[in-house]
Amino acid sequence: MKYIGAHVSADKGVENTPMNAAAIGAKSFALFTRNPSRWKSKPLTESSIEAFRSNCAAMGYDPKVILPHDSYLINLGSADPEKLAKSREAFLDEMHRCAQLGLTMLNFHPGSHLGLIEPDKCLDLIAESINLALDEIPGVKAVIENTAGQGSNLGFEFSQIGRIIDGVSDKSRVGVCIDTCHTFAAGYDLSTQAGYDSTWNEFDEKIGRQYLSAVHLNDSKRELGSHVDRHAPLRQGHIDETFFHRMMNDDRFDGIPIILETPQPELWAEEIAWLYSLENDK
Ligand SMILES: [Zn+2]
Ligand SMILES: [Zn+2]
Repeated sequence: MKYIGAHVSADKGVENTPMNAAAIGAKSFALFTRNPSRWKSKPLTESSIEAFRSNCAAMGYDPKVILPHDSYLINLGSADPEKLAKSREAFLDEMHRCAQLGLTMLNFHPGSHLGLIEPDKCLDLIAESINLALDEIPGVKAVIENTAGQGSNLGFEFSQIGRIIDGVSDKSRVGVCIDTCHTFAAGYDLSTQAGYDSTWNEFDEKIGRQYLSAVHLNDSKRELGSHVDRHAPLRQGHIDETFFHRMMNDDRFDGIPIILETPQPELWAEEIAWLYSLENDK
């Protein structure tokens, strides 16, 4: 079964996210548990935590279909010791919040070398950062998101993600979230049957299918291999519509959150309904 959802607003408190998801017919959802563009955030209150847990239960959202996303400021591969320490501290807080909310995954962008260190060195720092967080917080899986490779962001080649995972000690608590816009922008051609097959074969080979934990389902405003991260609503970007048909009929995506981060929230209900209409329609 496919769990299609969207990254819903937590503006009025994380406890409202299950209702926001239910309102658009989502079977899964993503959220920020703190302001993603600030370093400091107030701790979650006891009442907010309790309300979140009971609203999830009431709306039928199991933690396995909820994918919290971390702050954009965090760079777990920073070569600057001060920024690295700050990032690791914030990441730990993100993981802690997930544990408090009863959630089992945290989705994050791996990191950027900023031209200050070798890419491989940066990937190793990211693995070390993950190890430190996993040691500290039990029960939460660190879910690495692939990137478009914009600027000096790493994780745009599957082999880079494979290298990070190689450096993680507890492999049962690391996973991967594939963002389809990023994948396409990074040069993996999801638009054709041959490109689809070779992309997922490369995933299995360089990363390993057992690590696939979530999907961000977005169309791409920019062309194949552009390395530009600009999401488009489904069927309004450069990824061919047949991709969504293939994906909705591919059982490798069963049982994991598939999250829309498309730029027009008013279209989400429609996009979700359209995706479900593609099932059993090879
Ligand atoms: Zn994404
Ligand atoms: Zn993106």
